[in-house]
Amino acid sequence: MVSSRIHLVAMGGTISMVSSDSGLVPSLDAEDFLRQYQSIPISITSESLTALPGASITATSLNEAILVARSAVASGAEGVVITQGTDTLEETSFLADLVWDHDEPLVLTGAMRPANAPGSDGLGNLSGAIRVAADVHARARGVLVVFGDEVFTARHLQKTHSSKLNAFTAPGVGPVGVLGEDQIHWWSPPEVHRRTRFGSVASPSTIVTVTAQLDSSAELLAWA
Ligand code: ASP
Repeated sequence: MVSSRIHLVAMGGTISMVSSDSGLVPSLDAEDFLRQYQSIPISITSESLTALPGASITATSLNEAILVARSAVASGAEGVVITQGTDTLEETSFLADLVWDHDEPLVLTGAMRPANAPGSDGLGNLSGAIRVAADVHARARGVLVVFGDEVFTARHLQKTHSSKLNAFTAPGVGPVGVLGEDQIHWWSPPEVHRRTRFGSVASPSTIVTVTAQLDSSAELLAWA
């Protein structure tokens, strides 16, 4: 029985990559992912937006993904899943959370190992993200990230390891949910999700990082 409709948006990252003689190549698109999910009792529509490493995602492509997610919800999707590279998942999910004003879950995921690596985590993470996006208890929680069978709120998420399969954590807060075999265990009710304060993710022409260290002067801050 088909119980919900989820829209899947693929943007690249290791989850889509296959190792070959020329290195890691983005090879799987949303259609390829879906072919592996024929037995899931969830109706999934899909589209591929980009096939880029996470570091190459721009504010413009993130905005495009959010617009796609919004229009999927407007046409009846009960949740949206975005796959992307993990190197910027912390930043993109945080930005998306600032503008996502729907109750329908927007869930991001990726993978630490390429699709053809032994013990690849991509399918498990994607399957978890789809299950969470389709879960009624995931509603009104803002943007969520599913990784290693755990569910995090985007605003608390950090990538805290560069190779472990459970590379994502929420220091001091922990996951809001955990995926069991047959059900999702939610540890906390939805917080009152801060409604949107920004219409879209701004696309600044210059991004300045000011690092604080011993004896830093405030000159750069003043300039910024
Ligand atoms: N370098 C990859 C990326 O962010 C890492 C990953 O996806 O895990 O695209």
